[in-house]
Amino acid sequence: MKRNSKSFIPIAFAVIFVLSFLYFSLVNERAEPYEADSGYRPVMGTFAHVIVIAVEEKAAQACIEAAIEQINKIDELMSYHNPDSEISRLNRSAFENPVKVGPLTYQVIKKAVEFSRLTDGAFDVTVGPLVDLWRRAGDANTVPTQQQLQEAGSRVGWDKLILEDSEQSVQFAVDGMRLDLGGIAKGFAIDKAIEAIEEAGGLGALVDIGGDIRCFGKTPKGQKYWLVGLQNPDLESEEQILFTLKLSAGAVATSGDYQRFVLIGGRHYSHIINQKTGNSAEALSSVTIITDSATDADALATAVSVMGAAKGTELIEKSSSTEAIIISAAPEYKITKTSGAEKFIK
Ligand code: AMP
Ligand code: MG
Repeated sequence: MKRNSKSFIPIAFAVIFVLSFLYFSLVNERAEPYEADSGYRPVMGTFAHVIVIAVEEKAAQACIEAAIEQINKIDELMSYHNPDSEISRLNRSAFENPVKVGPLTYQVIKKAVEFSRLTDGAFDVTVGPLVDLWRRAGDANTVPTQQQLQEAGSRVGWDKLILEDSEQSVQFAVDGMRLDLGGIAKGFAIDKAIEAIEEAGGLGALVDIGGDIRCFGKTPKGQKYWLVGLQNPDLESEEQILFTLKLSAGAVATSGDYQRFVLIGGRHYSHIINQKTGNSAEALSSVTIITDSATDADALATAVSVMGAAKGTELIEKSSSTEAIIISAAPEYKITKTSGAEKFIK
């Protein structure tokens, strides 16, 4: 009896140990990854929204904060309207002297110039003076005169930018030039936010700034893909979402004249300007680009808005990893898709 009870104790401990080990490993295996949602945070004249999937709550929150920090940092550096931004500082004095900028701003400017070359100036980061002219025209409710368009146009042109890589400096060849990163900075901020989430150990995420998005990895519970709604540019239609796009990983950016525009005499003028004519881009109501990088998607969506459906499709078809969904202006709203776009439509 004595001998039995003595050997019973270690056996009981061993059994409890094995059972608790089995229990905890089963529970752990079943433990769902944690989903965190940043809510909508005002930035870049719009809202940022981040969803992160991580192993547990603290990690997910750390990813969200890392992403939002990157987005705010890029906004502070690149805002056209904030007089303290690096871009505003550059815009004030880059004609007099070359202005050194930090690595992030320089990287975006280099990318922007790359897209100007690729799109033969349809994308042009020096479009600032024309954007300003159209904004003032909106305030005054009169279209700009030919003379005003010509004057502002003479201060526009990516080929009038002097970049010095070794110094990371920018100079303007013409007085009164202004850089406007509004067509590319959102995408760049999204890419940097995704990088920050990956570095912070996120298992999956979606970063959305004003409807431009990038996503990767593990999706929310019950969802096989990341889903992105493409808004109907015909705001009078009952169908608000025209397509739902499904992605495992990648970026989607939309440029649309229904989102932001200048109103003159009751007519909408797009906020996207064709630097060759000085006029606002007219032909398309919505351009959506799907590709790997959000920076590329953002710049290409703006560029194709200027290029039009035919030239735009031709450019996008050249890249096997880039697709476009293009919708012509009202009242036709004719839809053109590149050859591989369909596989992203749910
Ligand atoms: P997005 O909404 O990305 O198409 O960007 C539109 C913004 O880009 C405008 O509000 C301007 O700040 C700027 N922009 C306008 N026209 C152009 C252009 N042709 N190339 C590059 N940026 C432009
Ligand atoms: Mg853009």
